[in-house]
Amino acid sequence: MRWNVAVFGGGIAGISAAVNAYRSGKSVILVEQSFTIGGNATSGLVNPFMRYWLDNKILAGEFFQEILGDLKDYNARFKNTFDSEMLKIILFKKLEGVTLLFRSIPIEVYRKHKTIKKVIVQSSLGNRYEIEADLFIDATGDSTLAYLSGCKVESGDETGTNQATTLMFVIGNVDFHKVRESIRKDPDNFFKWVSPDAEVLSVAGYFKEIKKARKEGLTYPSDYFFFVQLPGEGRVTVNTTHIGVKTTDDFEVSKAMEVGHKQVYDVFRFSKEYVPGFENSYIEKIANILGIRESRRGTGLYKFKGNDVLQKSKFSDGVINACYGIDVHKKEHKIDKAESEFVPKYEDYYQIPLRALISKDVENLAVIGRGLSSDFLGQSAARIMPTCVDMGEVAGKLAGKVQKSFREAISEF
Ligand SMILES: Cc1cc2nc3c(=O)[nH]c(=O)nc-3n(C[C@H](O)[C@H](O)[C@H](O)COP(=O)(O)OP(=O)(O)OC[C@H]3O[C@@H](n4cnc5c(N)ncnc54)[C@H](O)[C@@H]3O)c2cc1C
Repeated sequence: MRWNVAVFGGGIAGISAAVNAYRSGKSVILVEQSFTIGGNATSGLVNPFMRYWLDNKILAGEFFQEILGDLKDYNARFKNTFDSEMLKIILFKKLEGVTLLFRSIPIEVYRKHKTIKKVIVQSSLGNRYEIEADLFIDATGDSTLAYLSGCKVESGDETGTNQATTLMFVIGNVDFHKVRESIRKDPDNFFKWVSPDAEVLSVAGYFKEIKKARKEGLTYPSDYFFFVQLPGEGRVTVNTTHIGVKTTDDFEVSKAMEVGHKQVYDVFRFSKEYVPGFENSYIEKIANILGIRESRRGTGLYKFKGNDVLQKSKFSDGVINACYGIDVHKKEHKIDKAESEFVPKYEDYYQIPLRALISKDVENLAVIGRGLSSDFLGQSAARIMPTCVDMGEVAGKLAGKVQKSFREAISEF
């Protein structure tokens, strides 16, 4: 079975790559391990789209803006938050023309020198397929195709510790009026960036209630309660469970899913009993995947670094503009004063160079999305959804231009 481009991983980065390669005239297959698309952006219940604008200028690329427009047309967006079910419908429509292969993973890669010749894929039905392609795009988030291809990969910080994982969930029937009132009454009980007047409520805090609940014997997994308003009535997505594991260890992440469900219940019970506005709420949905922020990172022609974020680096082959800062969820979940008083400033943007998306070891392989070639801190900023979509757009369009190697077009940038 042969295509021009084979994309592995149907998260928001992989979809963007597949659609953009197809629109550039290439035949494309998208191989996805689950039975749906979107990864963290849908099954993971992650929201909102983190900062993709600077002042009034949108930094994100055309494809991301197209998604924003579609979400609005489908009445599924409220500012930078979106309805994840509608996002699936929109993305499936965009994928028309791309061959989809669900419930399938790569198990073996055949390489000749610096080129991948074919990938053996195994489906959950026990069928095996030989996928041949000119170009391969690894959008698994875990750099699994790069790993199976024998490319160098990295994981975690300098001690090998990964970012903590989170099992997201959605709570319905929240009274936002009461939430706003409680922030107004006691702003010190929240992170400094929390505003009771924000159009989209994004709230982290309730330090006093957590202390009280713990004193009264409630188990609670974090030092704060963090939720973001979703489109619809009284709905929030909760980003509060916290499980520090080795994200490249299958048994540890499996156990984390079990622990995550326990934490979801603890957080929900806390909110109902202690948080004004949550008295009549209910759990609408629990993510069906563990939210893994960082696992394996590929090694590209350039390693995007935390320093590039801090210094707002620009590159001659800078293809992605972004401004989201370094954001590490430490294994231990303890909040200090400096953290709760930190208010992010967005004054300039940085760029991600094309070379960070192109494998160093294999010429016809690009690694995109949260598995991009980066150090631990660089990845912590580049991993947000708008930037992942941009990486897919760049890789997909590049696949449309080149024949057998992603390096053919570098000089054009
Ligand atoms: C808890 C949490 C909160 C976050 N909060 C925000 C936020 O508020 N705003 C924001 O913008 N970003 C946020 N992020 C970051 C962002 O959601 C992700 O980094 C981004 O969605 C990653 O997209 P991706 O396509 O690179 O990877 P993923 O979403 O991980 O998608 C990878 C896809 O590949 C598939 N796959 C994996 N392995 C294989 C394989 N071997 N074979 C075939 N398919 C495979 C998966 O099933 C999945 O569909 C958050 C992330 C987490 C985990």
